[in-house]
Amino acid sequence: MTIKSIPICISLLIMMTFAACPVSGVESGPRIIEDTQVLMGTTVRIQAPVASDKDAAVAREAINKAFKEIARIENVFSVFKPDSEVSRINKVKPGEPVPVSAEAFGLIERSVECSKKTEGAFDVTVKPLVDLWREAGKSKKLPPAEAIAAAVNKVGSRYLLLDKAKSTITFQKDGMGLDFGGIAKGYATDRVVAVLKESGISNALISSGGNTYCLGMKGEKEMWKVGIQHPRDKNKVFAVLRLKDKAIDTSGDYEKYFILHGRRYSHIIDPRTGYPIGDNVVSATVVADSAANADMFATALCVLGADGSRMADSLGLDALLIIKDGEKLKTEMAGGFKEQYGKAKKK
Ligand code: AMP
Ligand code: MG
Repeated sequence: MTIKSIPICISLLIMMTFAACPVSGVESGPRIIEDTQVLMGTTVRIQAPVASDKDAAVAREAINKAFKEIARIENVFSVFKPDSEVSRINKVKPGEPVPVSAEAFGLIERSVECSKKTEGAFDVTVKPLVDLWREAGKSKKLPPAEAIAAAVNKVGSRYLLLDKAKSTITFQKDGMGLDFGGIAKGYATDRVVAVLKESGISNALISSGGNTYCLGMKGEKEMWKVGIQHPRDKNKVFAVLRLKDKAIDTSGDYEKYFILHGRRYSHIIDPRTGYPIGDNVVSATVVADSAANADMFATALCVLGADGSRMADSLGLDALLIIKDGEKLKTEMAGGFKEQYGKAKKK
């Protein structure tokens, strides 16, 4: 999981634009119960519309439970917590099967499947490269080509042996490691949705970093609105989407990066080359039923660059890519995005 710095230059982000209601909404629209906490290195906000004081009490309790669930997930998947399950897995020597929880095994399986579908653009074993480039960002020194090549050699889901019956995984190369930064926030959002539903909440909005889930409706006849900010003008909204029971995730070059010798180095790494993604894809937005899927595939589409919309089309992903075209930006809509949300472009 990444510790997200506050972007110096926010070029694009998904944000909840119009539901910035106070805890007990007194303005127009439904009364909203909400809470915000910093978890998984990002600000997580959960909002639920309520019709009565009784509903409000239920919502408060449900939201508290949801935050506890996110904290629990962070303790499983964070690479920054030395006692997390993933940190424990990452210490195991190659060739030694390591027992993993059913939850971690499930997310590893989903990540490996995404790797296959995206021809290696998304890879949960990207850790050696993430570590290398994080260090480069800190020291302001680019890694030598040999170090990049050596790290690329340790990355690849194909070097991960999964034994479902025994619930073990085995690293087949020395120095391998897992990094769930590209999926854990989405997974946590899906778990929040489950916890809220179990607690009797059928309408809510969950947003964490670039990841949002619109559960049910905001009002009786009012859908949740999610704004995609204009990539190069943070005061402009690029598009507004009205969503119900959908996740939306945006990954991009704006999110977390460092600049060295005038070049921007993103936190998203192409596992095939070992280098941070080029700057031709400014952002990729995916709308999906599952927030974990939206999270993984948005990261993958950024890596795929110019190939992103072809891949999104072939995978049937509803995606919006914002791509550099010389000095200008152009958009490409893939899958069903244009039919379903294309009109949202002009807000
Ligand atoms: P996101 O912000 O969802 O696009 O995810 C970016 C985070 O995922 C990074 O901070 C890394 O922890 C991790 N990551 C970077 N590159 C990849 C990749 N190609 N595949 C999977 N995870 C990645
Ligand atoms: Mg992602």
